[in-house]
Amino acid sequence: MKEASQFVTDTRENLIGMNRAELARAVVEVGEPAKSATMRAKQLWHWIYHHGATEFSEMTSLNSALREALASVYTLGRPTISREQCSEDGTRKWLLKFADSQEAESVFIPEEDRGALCISSQVGCTLTCRFCHTGTQRLVRNLDAREIVSQFLVARDSYGEWPSPRGERLISNIVMMGMGEPLFNYENVAKAIRIVMDEEGLSISRRRITLSTAGVAPMIERCGTELGVGLAISLHAVTDELRDELMPINRKYPLAQLLDACRRYPGASNARRITFEYVMLKGINDSPADAKALVHLIAGIPAKINLIPFNAWPGAPYKCSTPDTISKFAAIVNAAGYSSPVRTPRGRDILAACGQLRSDSVRAPRTARSIPTHPANVPRAALS
Ligand code: SAH
Repeated sequence: MKEASQFVTDTRENLIGMNRAELARAVVEVGEPAKSATMRAKQLWHWIYHHGATEFSEMTSLNSALREALASVYTLGRPTISREQCSEDGTRKWLLKFADSQEAESVFIPEEDRGALCISSQVGCTLTCRFCHTGTQRLVRNLDAREIVSQFLVARDSYGEWPSPRGERLISNIVMMGMGEPLFNYENVAKAIRIVMDEEGLSISRRRITLSTAGVAPMIERCGTELGVGLAISLHAVTDELRDELMPINRKYPLAQLLDACRRYPGASNARRITFEYVMLKGINDSPADAKALVHLIAGIPAKINLIPFNAWPGAPYKCSTPDTISKFAAIVNAAGYSSPVRTPRGRDILAACGQLRSDSVRAPRTARSIPTHPANVPRAALS
């Protein structure tokens, strides 16, 4: 009986998401002498993040006594996959369930020889941007570093892309553009990003990581200094009046303060431009005057602009601008010298847009309603 209940509720601590110092402490906890702890932590790191080991028994460079001791106290378990969906265009989406049964999504968007994984930073979101479906979800909590890193591990497991390739790889880029506001969960996001960037493990360079924020202005500089990742700003409006309405966070950090933080973003240059995301909402923010105001607003910032066709969801208060309006808007932005790719809809058949799969799952037990399909949010530009 005792064994059976132990099996059902695994109380072992999970090593995923620990940094090297924490791993060193973990081996000492199971009896490893302090003098060899750093070396053992390095070996563990290599097994976990280079080889993608899920069992301690695989770790042949550790002696069997240590492997057994580790296995009795720790695990390398991944979150459960509640749903995995593959789109006809190759987009793949996972709904992951964590230990407390909360769920979050990640989406992989492949290109010819590479691809971006879109990772969530929170379950739900507190921001309530009016066009965003995640903002309609009630339950919100931060994901911890393990839960954030695990999204990457699950994706790499799914493609069997182990050991972590050093050259060409399918999952080559990361965009923090899933559910949640990463700069409201900075400590956990930063810890996870440091793990993912480590060259002896998953080894995704900071140049291939983009963090997208709705505009938590005071955290932006720190993000640049400490992590040096690419920055994307969800701009979506060119006046405080409209942005206050679309994105309530603007009332706290208005446009002038946000753009000032962008101007000071460490490492921004013509080779490393800041991405401004701009969702095209019919009759709301899509006029030629808006396009002109946009280029005026970001003058002097090394920037590219991503025009995102709005993914309408049931009950959404907006419609997507027409293709003609979007191309006229893009032409004005282009003429001002900015690259302005329009995001190609991906994963239309698998609810790949931010927050939709989780909402579908939360509702399914009660109403089993089906939700129309929408494209994913990941920009092509994030792959460059
Ligand atoms: N909180 C962060 C990251 C998550 S949202 C941020 O705001 O940047 C990722 C991107 O998808 C943001 O640019 C967001 O504004 C956009 N987005 C959200 N809902 C959308 C929708 N229905 N249609 C198009 N883009 C949407």
